Amino acid sequence: MRSLIVDDDDMGRLMLASFLEEFGPCDQAENGQQALELIDAAATAASPYNLICLDIIMPIMDGTTTLRGIRERDQQQGKRTKVFMISACSSPQDIEDAFFEGDCDDYVVKPFQREAVTQMLQRHKLI
Ligand SMILES: [Mg+2]
Repeated sequence: MRSLIVDDDDMGRLMLASFLEEFGPCDQAENGQQALELIDAAATAASPYNLICLDIIMPIMDGTTTLRGIRERDQQQGKRTKVFMISACSSPQDIEDAFFEGDCDDYVVKPFQREAVTQMLQRHKLI
């Protein structure tokens, strides 16, 4: 499984990466603009991401806008990338909006629990 974590919170990003790296290469981006550049580069290199974990509130380009960019690319390429939104427990409304507007597949809640993340990957048949 090739994954990408997009989060402006360094601690959260590194912790999630330590879980996902067990299952394959895992790249990191600090904002949506960086993420879309990596996603385009991965597509060009014919090694697209199987999973993208996406924070909602980020500088430069937020998660909801990034998700729209991902789905536009998916549509052009005739596929659907698994996208999990990243949330702090305090922002359920953001998650709801992301589900409704942007069509994400699931969400992971901070602080991340290894067991919960692993179960989610299994549920989505990513591992
Ligand atoms: Mg953030």
